[in-house]
Amino acid sequence: MSAPYRLRLPGPTVVPERVRAALARPVLNHRGPEFAEILAETAGLLRKVAGTANEILLFACSGTGMMEASLANVLAPGDKALVIANGQFAERFATIAKALGGDADTIDVPWGQAVDKDSLAARLAGGDYRAVVAVHNESSTGAVADLAEIGAVVRATPALLVVDSVSGLGGIEMKQDAWGVDILLGASQKAFMCPPGLGLASVSDKAWKAIDQDAGRARFYWDFRRARDAAVKGQTAFTPAVSIAAGLREALRMIFEEGLPEVLARHRRLGEALRAGGQALGLPIFTKSPIISDTVAVFGVPDGLEGGAIVRHMYERYGTVIAGARNKLAGKVIRFGTMGYLDDADIVVDLLHLERTLADLGHPVTPGAGMTAAAERLRRQ
Ligand SMILES: *Cc1c(COP(=O)(O)O)cnc(C)c1O
Repeated sequence: MSAPYRLRLPGPTVVPERVRAALARPVLNHRGPEFAEILAETAGLLRKVAGTANEILLFACSGTGMMEASLANVLAPGDKALVIANGQFAERFATIAKALGGDADTIDVPWGQAVDKDSLAARLAGGDYRAVVAVHNESSTGAVADLAEIGAVVRATPALLVVDSVSGLGGIEMKQDAWGVDILLGASQKAFMCPPGLGLASVSDKAWKAIDQDAGRARFYWDFRRARDAAVKGQTAFTPAVSIAAGLREALRMIFEEGLPEVLARHRRLGEALRAGGQALGLPIFTKSPIISDTVAVFGVPDGLEGGAIVRHMYERYGTVIAGARNKLAGKVIRFGTMGYLDDADIVVDLLHLERTLADLGHPVTPGAGMTAAAERLRRQ
């Protein structure tokens, strides 16, 4: 008998039965009243998750589509963005900015660490930047940006704060309006417990003032102005991911039935438990930032082992699908998603499979140490 398939990536994540049932319902007219109702409820609940009163814009795309959309709406050729570069997704933003004909300056921060607000303020004062770009939850390293602090720095300048919270929203706290995030972007396949294919953005008044100017920006599908005009009519500009929107509404209902604070606390508890368990098996936590992710656990790989071998063995022998790295950390880290539809038992089984994998690969482990450390944390709320 082959081991059951356990999807434990930092996205895509497990889709619960209730959401799969919603996804399986007949496709609706995307300009009809039934879909308008789905959009309205989904947008209302997304606003609560994001901590915003803004209109919510939905697109049919993966998270990277929303990264490009956000920059396409604020950068014209020659415009400069300042990217806080502390991981793979931040580097992708810099590449996108250049692909759009913009300029991307970076504040280079060692991977796994967070930017220091004084160096951000100094760099911002020294350049004419349209946007500061930050990744809320850097899935490649587990570093979480202190957006309250970054927002306070950027708010005092003409620059817009663009934030990727693709792997944060719904799993860790977001207060877009209070923190001064101008463009917030997310996607369906992380803590929102849906399949990939739906992207979302929420845009502040400060950002709309910039977006509403034409300024030679190359945008059509991604034009937020068109998306806003459709959103106020209960529609999307082009054919949306109708089924995923229905799934997302169901997922959001599940989140609010459990309670948003309770959902965030569960992510905290499970993230801490998995990190404690991995450490007890001898794996160091890679992340060094003051705030550590509760939606992705990133471990360093002990000497003598290779990350890819751990990932392969966990899947082939035990059916547990985790991630390594596809960047300069390749071989050096392993990553577990700790977001979405997860409970205590998932974490305990992750650690059982990790312990067995390490032992199978010849790494000494204390049997049960990981699960015991996790159980200790899981006993507390
Ligand atoms: C998953 C993810 C994305 C989006 O990646 P896609 O593969 O395009 O969906 C963007 N940013 C972060 C931080 C992510 O974790």
